[in-house]
Amino acid sequence: MRQIKVDYQRQRFPARNHGQREARPVPRQAQPGHRQTVRCVQHPGVRMVLAGTNHEWNTVRYICPMCSAMGMPLVEMATGVVSSYFADRGYGFVDNGGPRIFFHISDLQGRFTPYVGMPVTCRVEQNERGLIGRQVQAR
Ligand SMILES: [Zn+2]
Repeated sequence: MRQIKVDYQRQRFPARNHGQREARPVPRQAQPGHRQTVRCVQHPGVRMVLAGTNHEWNTVRYICPMCSAMGMPLVEMATGVVSSYFADRGYGFVDNGGPRIFFHISDLQGRFTPYVGMPVTCRVEQNERGLIGRQVQAR
């Protein structure tokens, strides 16, 4: 499978932090300058709060304050590209630099036809077979 490089930048620290452990790379969308607004599925009016990164999946975590209050889990968001798509079978995969993410056409958000190399974002869930992309949308 084709490997997609995710755009990383290293955090810069002032000189007084010299000698501390080097910071881990942070996906671009987790950085302060990034303007992506992620909204909750259950609470469309609520803006999700950035809550760190998942290095294993190469995803960014968001918390909905309302869902959090109800004990619902946080959301993992992936930024990647469609690495394969089988139109006749209605599914494909997203590559975000982590484990591959399966998606089904029923999880596409909006009307579009995926193609290999298409830049997308999606919410990521996991089941016994691996990672699954939900609300896949073009970016
Ligand atoms: Zn919510």
